[in-house]
Amino acid sequence: MSLKDTFKHKTVFSLEVYPPKTAASTKKLVNALTGIKRIKPDFISITLGAGGSQNNNALDLASMIQNDLKIPAMAHIPGLYRSKEDVTAFLTELKKHNIQNVLALRGDRNDVDDPVGDFNHASELAEFIAKQGDFDISGACYPQKHPESVDLVDDTLHLKQKVDNGVSHLITQMVFDNQAFYDFKQRLELAGINVPVEVGIMPCTNRNQIKHITELSGIEMPKKFVAIMDRYADNKEAMFDAGVAYAVDQIVDLVSNGVDGIHLYTMNNAEVAQRIWEATHSLFEATSYQIQHPSIASGNHK
Ligand code: FAD
Repeated sequence: MSLKDTFKHKTVFSLEVYPPKTAASTKKLVNALTGIKRIKPDFISITLGAGGSQNNNALDLASMIQNDLKIPAMAHIPGLYRSKEDVTAFLTELKKHNIQNVLALRGDRNDVDDPVGDFNHASELAEFIAKQGDFDISGACYPQKHPESVDLVDDTLHLKQKVDNGVSHLITQMVFDNQAFYDFKQRLELAGINVPVEVGIMPCTNRNQIKHITELSGIEMPKKFVAIMDRYADNKEAMFDAGVAYAVDQIVDLVSNGVDGIHLYTMNNAEVAQRIWEATHSLFEATSYQIQHPSIASGNHK
């Protein structure tokens, strides 16, 4: 079943992993993925470095997920530092490995490399991939706007362009405040952006992650989240439990309010993914939920 069709049938649950750098950590991840096979994600997405050096690691991992674990894989493709030829070669490899889901991205700018110039925005990459046919194209979105966007209108117009250019499913940046997502979803409806949107959930289970997230995203954290961090960031076990519980709480609220799907940023931590799945799987398995409770679409959530 294509991803587009999966969204028509159920509330989607997916995972994001990144390709390990060493053979030892790849083996560890492969074992972890085998262990979490019971989780039954609708797909697993595989990140790719913006600079273009990790193609093979990402491809190997995506192929293992698609062909050995038999779970649909989604390959991330950041375009800023890749040429049309690079992208075409990567797409050819993906096809050889039966991978039809891609996430078309711009990629973060770095201070070292010069952008190639073929894909300055994700929308240009989406258009290019759409013309090749054969791929189900997803895109990224930012409920509290991308840090480079001038304002919410600017952000929404560029997102619309991305969807008009062939993106059929969106995945949000990590969300810690569900209300920010509900507000965003209403803006999308007003703008006529009607594709399914998965909410990115990042269980925050240790101090380093929190620092990394706040630096990268520039998102203002909800009070409830800040209180947990202030109290437990120095207590490993308590922080783990609190981080998982916070994420589960968010998921229960989001799925109850009829979201299209949840995309779990696993940071390759199979234990976290397992804990979250155990606490929420029955919500996803109640597949007709969205049809019975289209509360977000009618704006009646909460
Ligand atoms: P775009 O959609 O191009 O938007 C970036 C900025 O440009 C926005 O401010 C937008 O408003 C603006 N813009 C868009 N079009 C135009 C236009 N025509 N004219 C002027 N301005 C415009 N990065 C990686 O390197 N590898 C990954 O694997 C990866 N995975 C990710 C997965 C998800 C779910 C998310 C949310 C992000 C991921 N990223 C990844 C990070 C992403 O590459 C960065 O957030 C990047 O800064 C923006 O990428 P984008 O695809 O959203 O860009």
